[in-house]
Amino acid sequence: MYQTDFLVIGSGIAGLFSALRLAAHGDVILVTKSDLEDSNSYFAQGGMAAALKEPDTPELHEEDTLRAGAGLCDRSAVKVLVEEGPQRVMELIGLGVEFDRVDGHIALTREGAHSQGRILHALGDSTGKAISDRLAQLTREHSNIHIKEDHFVAELLVQEGRCVGVLVVNPQQELEIYLARAVVLSSGGAGQVYAETSNPEAATGDGMALAYRAGAKLKDMEFIQFHPTVLVGSGTSQRFLISEAVRGEGAILRNVHGEPFMQKRHPLKDLAPRDVVARAIWREMEETKTPFVYLDATSLGSEHLKNRFPTIWARCQEQGLSMDRDYIPVAPAAHYFMGGVQTDLEGATSIPGLFACGEVACTGVHGANRLASNSLLETVVFGQRAALAAVEFARRHPILPDPSRFRDYVSALPRKDTWDNQEIHRLRGQTQKVMWDLVGLVRCNDSLTRAQRVLEELTLEVEELTAGVWSKEALELKNILLIGRLITKAALTRQESRGAHFRTDVPEPNEAWRKHIILQRDQLEPEFSAVD
Ligand SMILES: Cc1cc2nc3c(=O)[nH]c(=O)nc-3n(C[C@H](O)[C@H](O)[C@H](O)COP(=O)(O)OP(=O)(O)OC[C@H]3O[C@@H](n4cnc5c(N)ncnc54)[C@H](O)[C@@H]3O)c2cc1C
Repeated sequence: MYQTDFLVIGSGIAGLFSALRLAAHGDVILVTKSDLEDSNSYFAQGGMAAALKEPDTPELHEEDTLRAGAGLCDRSAVKVLVEEGPQRVMELIGLGVEFDRVDGHIALTREGAHSQGRILHALGDSTGKAISDRLAQLTREHSNIHIKEDHFVAELLVQEGRCVGVLVVNPQQELEIYLARAVVLSSGGAGQVYAETSNPEAATGDGMALAYRAGAKLKDMEFIQFHPTVLVGSGTSQRFLISEAVRGEGAILRNVHGEPFMQKRHPLKDLAPRDVVARAIWREMEETKTPFVYLDATSLGSEHLKNRFPTIWARCQEQGLSMDRDYIPVAPAAHYFMGGVQTDLEGATSIPGLFACGEVACTGVHGANRLASNSLLETVVFGQRAALAAVEFARRHPILPDPSRFRDYVSALPRKDTWDNQEIHRLRGQTQKVMWDLVGLVRCNDSLTRAQRVLEELTLEVEELTAGVWSKEALELKNILLIGRLITKAALTRQESRGAHFRTDVPEPNEAWRKHIILQRDQLEPEFSAVD
């Protein structure tokens, strides 16, 4: 049994940043199922968007964000993001994060659907690593922060409607109780719900599943961003991403016959919004009956490519491809979760005492489609807000509940000592494939209805197989399956195509559907909420 002032779940940039902010106000326990260096944040390549200097302004950044969000962004959240973003970036620099510079000035690049060059990057194409490493170092050095690596949060503990802590599986597979005055959920996204994803193994949607089971509202679950360009043939369950910044700096897409195709799809050509580019690639793949298209970066020159994109250059070399001479085979993959746990502007969820920030949260900034590089910015802007709101909540609710009740609860939980890991692995793969084939980049009523049926059957099988099993693999499988079902339910509900949600049976946006879909445990029917 552990007791603390603040509990942070997850060690991505949102978790690390909010832990550092919270640590100024009390004791923090940071629980992460991996080590501090394993997160989506760590893999972020392209950068962080912020309107730092003229002629760019927060207003222009706001316009671009709203346009990409396809009518579903919450304006007040976008205003917070673009107006507070530059200040948070300057604070990161103050904390020792070194963004790349040219002649002493911060280097800014462009990405798809940005009207200005406003993307900061670090270590070339390893921006996430640069920021995460520095924040992780500061976190490790901070005397108020106690880090629990390889600890899996299995449940949120709710008493009288307030979140008071979490149930954790430690590396010895024992169940531990952590109680806190306020809990910050920063457990990242859910790319692993899909068979093809740019996300690492850990992105299994745990936080959204935990929050849903505890009774929190989830919002906009149908909006998954599929990144247009992951490297085809890159092996592992995490596909290697070829950053949009490569197109931002002049690379173009070609079909397998070597023909450029984006000019026939969108006026912004290769820098059209991600959903447009991803679907254009999907169509070319269908028409040419090939599992990839090509990215042609040969015009950028070897020196520029090597210096600006050292990680991507090296990874291509490993696969026998030289970016300055060869076309790179690429295809879309699940990448970013626009929906998630519904929060207000202060990161408060619908459960008092539970705050959420980063990719797990749906703050309303991304709407139906995230503008590239806005998510890293969101982790720090809303990471800070969630931390400050948690401090205020803890000040008003200083008393922790009586731990004995939770001890009794945990000792009564069923426990199995042996289980079939191979079967768990197989069912994970099967779920991911159903989601990719039937609830992917292009959906329709028929595919979604079929998915719903298969996922229900899988749920029965998984529940039987994993009852009483507290292994990470079993808990992740249950979370993947739950989130898959919620995505499917929301996608079936939304009778239109908008942003990243594209249905062939209703291929156009419909003004009547310009509203959010909210899902909550024990509510059979979805709830709708107006766009701010
Ligand atoms: C390949 C790639 C490239 C990207 N490039 C960019 C980019 O250039 N610009 C940009 O803005 N965005 C980019 N993104 C998106 C961006 O990286 C993420 O949205 C952002 O980093 C999310 O940060 P986070 O802190 O919310 O979550 P994460 O960084 O994913 O961290 C989540 C943490 O929670 C932990 N966790 C999860 N479940 C549990 C549990 N049950 N118990 C305990 N701990 C748990 C995980 O182990 C992890 O430490 C990219 C994403 C990927 C995958």
